[in-house]
Amino acid sequence: MSSIQGKTDVILIGAGIMSATLGSLLKELAPEWEIKVFEKLEKPGEESSNEWNNAGTGHSALCELNYTVEKPDGSIDIGKAIKINEQFQLSRQFWSYLVNSNLIQNPQDFIRPLPHMSLVQGETDVTFLKKRFKALSDHPLFQGMEFSDDPKKLKEWVPLIMEGRTSNEPIAATKIDSGTDVNFGALTRMLFNHLKSQNVEINYKHNVEDIKRTEDGLWELKIWNMATGNIERHTAKFVFIGAGGGSLPLLQKTGIPESKHVGGFPVSGLFMVCSNPKVIEQHHAKVYGKAKVGAPPMSVPHLDTRFIDNKKSLLFGPFAGFSPKFLKTGSNLDLIGSVKPNNVLTMLAAGVKELSLTKYLIQQVMLSKEQRMEELREFIPNAKAEDWDIVVAGQRVQVIKDTEAGKGTLQFGTEVITAADGSIAALLGASPGASTAVHVMLQVIEKCFPQQIEAWEEKIVEMIPSYGVSLADNPVLLEKVHASTAKALDLTEKELVYH
Ligand SMILES: Cc1cc2nc3c(=O)[nH]c(=O)nc-3n(C[C@H](O)[C@H](O)[C@H](O)COP(=O)(O)OP(=O)(O)OC[C@H]3O[C@@H](n4cnc5c(N)ncnc54)[C@H](O)[C@@H]3O)c2cc1C
Repeated sequence: MSSIQGKTDVILIGAGIMSATLGSLLKELAPEWEIKVFEKLEKPGEESSNEWNNAGTGHSALCELNYTVEKPDGSIDIGKAIKINEQFQLSRQFWSYLVNSNLIQNPQDFIRPLPHMSLVQGETDVTFLKKRFKALSDHPLFQGMEFSDDPKKLKEWVPLIMEGRTSNEPIAATKIDSGTDVNFGALTRMLFNHLKSQNVEINYKHNVEDIKRTEDGLWELKIWNMATGNIERHTAKFVFIGAGGGSLPLLQKTGIPESKHVGGFPVSGLFMVCSNPKVIEQHHAKVYGKAKVGAPPMSVPHLDTRFIDNKKSLLFGPFAGFSPKFLKTGSNLDLIGSVKPNNVLTMLAAGVKELSLTKYLIQQVMLSKEQRMEELREFIPNAKAEDWDIVVAGQRVQVIKDTEAGKGTLQFGTEVITAADGSIAALLGASPGASTAVHVMLQVIEKCFPQQIEAWEEKIVEMIPSYGVSLADNPVLLEKVHASTAKALDLTEKELVYH
């Protein structure tokens, strides 16, 4: 049975953090616009945005060593770290605006202060960390960072990591207390509750199957209502494809020229989660190590205190892996189905170039629990197998495209793809991901609503005071924004309150 349904201003596909953020921004900028959301699962935030499917790091380059690369002359390039930190500040400001306006409540349910640390071992890496610390610690965005290579100090900072460590290799760490743990699942659910209260129509169990341009320039979506079995058709002036791993296949259906010669490469993930409360209590930080040679940047190992379901947890990972699915709830045919005549050469070129990555991912899938425990013991020498369980994390679909670096180049960042007339946009890729959702959705707004952006600018600045301004170059504004967001989001270290 097929039924034609109405016309609307905006359709958001997928109920993850990206659609939640874009919907919340648009509701403030154009409250009169009608917005509909279609999500194939029963609830919001069940795929990559779910708290168990990502690492919950508020990525601001405080501890992630892959954002500061060593240049051939031995100096450290901090350009990317500054960019990512600035982008996270935009998220903090928008979330603070929502809290201060009482549009969402109880920020401690989605964001907690947590020291961010980098930890390295061996002469070469200790020298690198020291140089990185020198390059960052004078910068206003990274103020408060400390360095130590004194085992006594490190024992104070990370007792669990130092206990039972017998190696004489040099070891060092940096620590900065202004880091955060973000429960992106809780935040996504809060934002969808807020959108519902603003009369946004949210349709769960609705699988978007096709997207076509209509003669009058709108977009028509063919949607399978999984509850009734009906096929519905909805049209909109603007469509955002925020379907996570499901975005690439939907983008391909639009047929827009920008969707051609683009492919996706899925990378799956696993975490180890600690079940022993005594061990969990001994750690209080996110501690990032260095990626192994040949490992992709998303598999940098880290030992993280997390706040999930209002209680403290301890997770280690992620271990990368290979699965042909584009979503955790996807199909084994996703990868092969995404190969089209227009991207087959791009995909083949990537296949040839990335053989070592594929080999690495397959090796990772084959690891036994004991082999994973050995990797964990590089962080916690005394870790016991019975205290740790394996949980499957979310899928990431890395973008493959033809770039200056050559045909079929694998990208590790996020990619916003828009039609030339701005009537449709898709978000591909996954890193740095949810932390930078506000920055990425502002990019969508700038690209897709050029006629409105000037009129909206005042409201955007009211919500996000550093919009269009470099905080790195404006230490006074940085201090103001940092203090006001810390207050609004309740980011002061205190005992964990259960409620
Ligand atoms: C292992 C791992 C660790 C990560 N760690 C971090 C981290 O520490 N910090 C960070 O900032 N980011 C991290 N990320 C990235 C972050 O999780 C993602 O960038 C973010 O959640 C993506 O949000 P999204 O809304 O685009 O996608 P999702 O949350 O995946 O939402 C997409 C939604 O679209 C729905 N959908 C798909 N297809 C259809 C369709 N055809 N019709 C209707 N609905 C559809 C899905 O069911 C889903 O609900 C991590 C990711 C992974 C996998």
